[in-house]
Amino acid sequence: MRESIQVGSTTIKPGERAYGYLPVGVLAARTEVRIPFQVVNGASDGPRVCLESTLHGWEPMGAEIIRRAMLRIDPHGLRGAVYCLPLANPLSVEFGGTVESSGMRVNPADVLDLNRVWPGKRVNGWLTEQMAYVLWNEVITQCEYLIDMHDGTGACDELPVAFPHAFPSDSQPAVAGGIADGIGAVGGTEGLTHEKMAEMNRQIREMAIAFGSSVIWWREHPANPAMLSGQAMLNGIVPLVVEAGGAGIIDDTIDQGAECLLNILKHLEMIAGDPVLPKRQIMVENYVVYRSLAGGFYLQEPEIKLGAEVKKGQVLGRVLDPVTSEVMETCTAPINGIIISRRVRMPINPGGYIAHIADTDAVIWERSNR
Ligand SMILES: [Zn+2]
Repeated sequence: MRESIQVGSTTIKPGERAYGYLPVGVLAARTEVRIPFQVVNGASDGPRVCLESTLHGWEPMGAEIIRRAMLRIDPHGLRGAVYCLPLANPLSVEFGGTVESSGMRVNPADVLDLNRVWPGKRVNGWLTEQMAYVLWNEVITQCEYLIDMHDGTGACDELPVAFPHAFPSDSQPAVAGGIADGIGAVGGTEGLTHEKMAEMNRQIREMAIAFGSSVIWWREHPANPAMLSGQAMLNGIVPLVVEAGGAGIIDDTIDQGAECLLNILKHLEMIAGDPVLPKRQIMVENYVVYRSLAGGFYLQEPEIKLGAEVKKGQVLGRVLDPVTSEVMETCTAPINGIIISRRVRMPINPGGYIAHIADTDAVIWERSNR
């Protein structure tokens, strides 16, 4: 017999959908800090999945992708439960959209990055740590799987792409040490065996492929317990970091992203239906983020579309002095690859995102219909 779910003060019975808020605290001028959620409790038993977005603040398109995916879920046809935290970092979403053109990554209340404070603190912690504590204890630890959604920031649009973080399979340590600022606590490392890490990596890899993005960037490195994905891995929760959409715009990447989330639920046999997959999927072990050295106005070459193949040395665009037309920087592709994310805003400061390029000379897995 399937049981009710409790999140904060909200009870969700089997076969029901509910919306609510997790209270965290009250700011100086009595503005309430609360984190909205949606839970769909399926009519029958199955896996429990958390869909979370906006950890980095001004990356709000994940919330729209989750909203669209969840409209297609019938609680009576669902096995297990889906817990949604579409606006996990609400203050950053409220106020983070105006800093540089890519948006603020931190909580403006205490200038901390919500993706560096896990699993949070209930007492003697900054507001961001208290938010993490509430999210971790009320929702995330109820789940066996976690999809951590990001977007291309305020400056860039982005294809859906899976960015799995996995344990190192070589001789590197399993867990990153030396969290410099003292926040983020190691949890659940007892009993972390090679077998458990290999099994976690296998499940992360399967979920990354099932997401159904045309590109998967496989990364193996010591788990950072201050990051949500690292903390989840160390506690036996299978995490998948994904990106989709960006720049606050509605385009094809949003519905594609929603389809990818539904692919995960199909993979876990929570909903019926065949996954919707692209003709070709590749997994790469190298990926380049191109950021500008110069500030100015960025004018992109017209062929630099999402999914475009570029050759090493090909011009992506130019940063111009907006008054004199002087070319401050000619941005060229540093590798042969596929454009996964591209700038869509013209004004740029030094360090602004130009493009993310998946390295097509570093393909480690491939699936093709052809
Ligand atoms: Zn992010």
